[in-house]
Order: sequence, then structure tokens, then C-alpha cells
Amino acid sequence: MYELLKVEGRAKRGRFHTPHGVIETPVFMNVATVAAIKGALSTEDLERIGTQVVLSNTYHLHLRPGDKLIKELGGLHKFMVCDRPILTDSGGFQVFSLAAMRKIKEEGVYFSSHIDGRKIFMGPEESMQIQSNIGSTIAMAFDECPPALAERDYIIPSVERTTRWLKRCMAEMNRLNSLEDTVNKEQMLFGINQGGVHPDIRIEHAKVIREFDLPGYAVGGLAVGESHAEMYNVLEHVVPYLPQNKPTYLMGVGTPENILEAVDRGIDFFDCVLPARNGRHGHVYTNQGKINLFNQKHENDMTPIAEDCKCPTCQKYSKAYIRHLLKAKEMLGMRLCVMHNLYYFNNLMTEIREALDKGEFAKYKKMRLEGYKQNK
Ligand SMILES: [Zn+2]
Repeated sequence: MYELLKVEGRAKRGRFHTPHGVIETPVFMNVATVAAIKGALSTEDLERIGTQVVLSNTYHLHLRPGDKLIKELGGLHKFMVCDRPILTDSGGFQVFSLAAMRKIKEEGVYFSSHIDGRKIFMGPEESMQIQSNIGSTIAMAFDECPPALAERDYIIPSVERTTRWLKRCMAEMNRLNSLEDTVNKEQMLFGINQGGVHPDIRIEHAKVIREFDLPGYAVGGLAVGESHAEMYNVLEHVVPYLPQNKPTYLMGVGTPENILEAVDRGIDFFDCVLPARNGRHGHVYTNQGKINLFNQKHENDMTPIAEDCKCPTCQKYSKAYIRHLLKAKEMLGMRLCVMHNLYYFNNLMTEIREALDKGEFAKYKKMRLEGYKQNK
């Protein structure tokens, strides 16, 4: 159940109640692709850095260790010792971006595993069965994510098929949730809006899927190669056609700047691999923009990454030490950077929520965007 607590322009401050706890929105979901944040962060670390929702990948977990094994072991929450909400993607995006030799048919997608090349079929029913075995709090609908700049002639039939797939996802989830041995019988399904960078196709699709009255809706197929201006344009057009009184999730986005702009356009769920990936490469976020710890100037700098940061890394360690660890390829260097970056994103969302509570989001957004320009 979603409570819309406050609005400022289109920006939403909400609270989403789930069987695994409350999610305060806007929220940044921390990506644990194969049931772990890349960078050696534990469940205890996630508690320390204020993670509200963990996102895991259906495609990866299906291939390894296998969703049937996860179900046997009691579901993903028990397996990775996590008691907070978990969202699983449908596997569609990875099938379309990672898998080799894929063939899209009405029934689903035939493809070869990127690990061992074995042939696999995944359709809406299979995706729902895998996500049900995983037992996530929120499951995503199985959709096709067409290339960012695909032509209308390709996108229109693709979006229509995604709608037919969504109906099949709903039917299959209802069936699975009613079974005796289902891990999470209260699993929720979010629908996904597609349509490339074409506002009219997006709007038509939004009007159709909102009628299905799902607990939440995502805008998919963005941040896959289009410009930021095109992405913001799509959001301006399509978000008003998605239910305001439900979570609105922008998949795979993005930078702090993208998040601030998207919140302004009515988005309140985000996920992105960027902060963890950048952290592993020594690129860390501050209110003055991103800094590269490999830079020589940090060699003898005994100050933390950010003086005003309350993360576990900045409470103890200096840029000079972390730079040394990164150069020596010590795992701790990566871990400290990833911890700082995820805390930075989680804390950015806390500040956004506080600004919305006070009716000062516009002012807050302007201040942050000006700050980020400093290290450009
Ligand atoms: Zn920090």
C-alpha cells in the first residue's frame, strides 16, 4: 500500500508498505546483482549505510546458483540474510543485453546462457516462476526492452507484445501466490512502460497498463543510450499518465543529477549500478562532484573523502590511505569506496525526502546541482 504524503510540483514524497517493511520514497535501491553488492559489502554494512531496498537480478540468479535451490533454502531473504524489501528485475533486460543468439517469439525469448552457452527459454510465466522461487518482495513484469533509438515500426509491435506479456505475468503471479509452498504469497507485481523515446507511444502504453491496477509502475527502456534531454522529455510526457498514488520507478537511473531531475518529474524509485561500479574504480561522489582517488594530489591527503559525510569510511579513513589501498589492489580499498558511494546515494535520497517534507525541494535541487558543477 502506497501513501502519497506530499507533493511539490510533480515531485512525490511517499511511503510504501510491504510485507518486508516500509519503504520511504524517493528511494535509491542498492543493486546486489547475484545476491551481493559488488565490492564485498555484507548485510550488516547495508544496515549501516541506510539501504532500504536491495535489488537482485533474476537472470543471474536463475543461472547461478539456480532459483530452485534458492527456494529449497527458504528464499532469497533467508539465503542472503536480509530482512528488508527485495526487488527482482524480470530477467528481460539481461536476456536482451547479455545473452547470445536470442530469438524473440510471442511465447517468450530463446537464448544461450552467457556463462556456458546452454540453451534457455524465458517467457512471462518462466520469469514469474523464477521470481516466485526467489521470493522477492516486488517482482517486475517480463518485457522487451527495445534498443534506445529503435524505429517506431519496431517499437509499436514490441510494446503491444509487452502488454500481452504483462497480462500473462499477472495471471501467472496470481496462480503462484495461491500455491501452498510459495515462498512469498504476498509478492507484488510492477508493470513496465516502454516506447523508446516516442512520447505518444509511451503515453498510449501507460494508459493501457494503468488499467491493470498493479501496485506499482516502472518506466523502462531509458538510460540505454539516449541523451539526458530525451530521457527527461519522456518522463515529462509519460509520468502524468501513470498513477500518482502508486510507486513510480525509473529503471537503471542514474547519476545524482539524473535522480534530482527525475524526482522533479514525479519519479520515486531508482536503481543503478553506477555508485558501486564507480567506487570499485576509485571514483567517489561528493557534494562538489565526483573525485578520482587515483589522482596524485590525494597521495598525502589525510582528510576523508568528504568532511561532511557520515559514512563508515569517512568516519575513519583518509584519502591518502584509500588511494594507497586502491593502488596496491587491496580489496579493502574498493570496499571503502563502494561503502561511501552507496551511503552517498542513500543519504542524497534522505535529504531529498527531508526537503520535500519541508516543501523546499526546488531550493535543495538547485543547491545540489550547483555544487556538482564544481569538480567538472
Ligand atoms: Zn563517506
